[in-house]
Amino acid sequence: MIKTLNDIEIEGKRVFIRCDFNVPKDEFGNITDDRRIRAALPTIRYCMDRDCKIILASHYERPEPGKYEEKFSLKPIAKRLHQLLKLDKDILMAADVVGPDAKAKAAAMEIGDILLLENLRYEAGETKNDAALAAELASFGDIYVNDAFGACHRKHASIYAITKHFDKNHKVAGFLMKKEINFFGKVIEDPVRPFVAVVGGSKVSGKLEALTNLVSKVDKIIIGGGMAFTFLKALGYEIGNSLVEDNLVEEAKSVMAKAKELNVKFYLPVDIVVATEFSQNATVKYLPIQEIPKGWMGLDIGPATTRLFREALNDAQTIIWNGPMGVFEIDKFSKGSIKMSHYIAESHATTIVGGGDTADVVARAGDADEMTFVSTGGGASLELIEGKVLPGMEAIEN
Ligand code: AMP
Repeated sequence: MIKTLNDIEIEGKRVFIRCDFNVPKDEFGNITDDRRIRAALPTIRYCMDRDCKIILASHYERPEPGKYEEKFSLKPIAKRLHQLLKLDKDILMAADVVGPDAKAKAAAMEIGDILLLENLRYEAGETKNDAALAAELASFGDIYVNDAFGACHRKHASIYAITKHFDKNHKVAGFLMKKEINFFGKVIEDPVRPFVAVVGGSKVSGKLEALTNLVSKVDKIIIGGGMAFTFLKALGYEIGNSLVEDNLVEEAKSVMAKAKELNVKFYLPVDIVVATEFSQNATVKYLPIQEIPKGWMGLDIGPATTRLFREALNDAQTIIWNGPMGVFEIDKFSKGSIKMSHYIAESHATTIVGGGDTADVVARAGDADEMTFVSTGGGASLELIEGKVLPGMEAIEN
């Protein structure tokens, strides 16, 4: 059993909370979905109510380490947190991660203060699981709390190496993390069948392993989004300029062969929305996959595909969905994703949505309340369902 905050004594202590504030933003830098920030509030409030000094840390996207770029700063997160917590005083925002400003601000903290460190990935050591960075981060807290479910599948300094500095009574899961683990635990142990995985998004590479493992767990796999084209190419279709990972065509074939062997039903798009450019003003055509012209690219699933996928979802009792069906950020190519969201939300199955983009689709479609569970983790939730032990979980269990 993984411990959480109310299993240990935290009154008046300095609590270091690793959060996942990697929220989506629009082209103006506005936060388009603050669910990940709101999901961290129960843990933060619990610590506030126990007179702790609270140090928050998160990564945000992928800045070049060592280079400060405003667009990767966590300052907008501090503002949103301030609004959501309805605080009288400001959240202290550090200008660096473990540099002089963060240290000075941490040293001057009073009871009830909240300090947000800058983007962890400004430090090169974060993604390298660097021991020196981990030691510096650990020095901010008496207690380590991991509430960053979305980042738990990564062996990074603030997730993994840092935990060596805390014994088992001083490192715990936050409430969000605990909730996610409990939920997925139930689904993994005993999914009600038919169990259907809907997988989309841009890359096969990020999800190929997950797909290979999922094949032996689910009854049906539905593939949409950019990743479908690697499979369609593997089947010999002309895919024009659509997104493709040529080096994975063979592996795509073996995933399909494994599905066939295990009698897992495998669904690919049968028609596609194609355009010559990624733009709202692009001319589009709706074509069967047999007719994708050279030079055009597939940017959404077509109407026949959404109907096919709906049929395939009809008898589902458990549905997991990870990855949009098309370039949903552009209205013209969002219909397939929005329709899938509606179909999944309308079904009588237990519905689990994972991944920032997919959660964004569900929010845009107005379906968030209709889903059983919207996870804050994409890759992490897929790995949990595959039955993997996440490094971030393992590190606080020990
Ligand atoms: P991922 O991070 O792999 O889940 O991918 C999410 C991204 O995939 C979103 O930004 C979508 O715009 C993108 N995407 C979905 N379908 C396509 C497609 N057909 N071509 C290119 N990108 C796509």
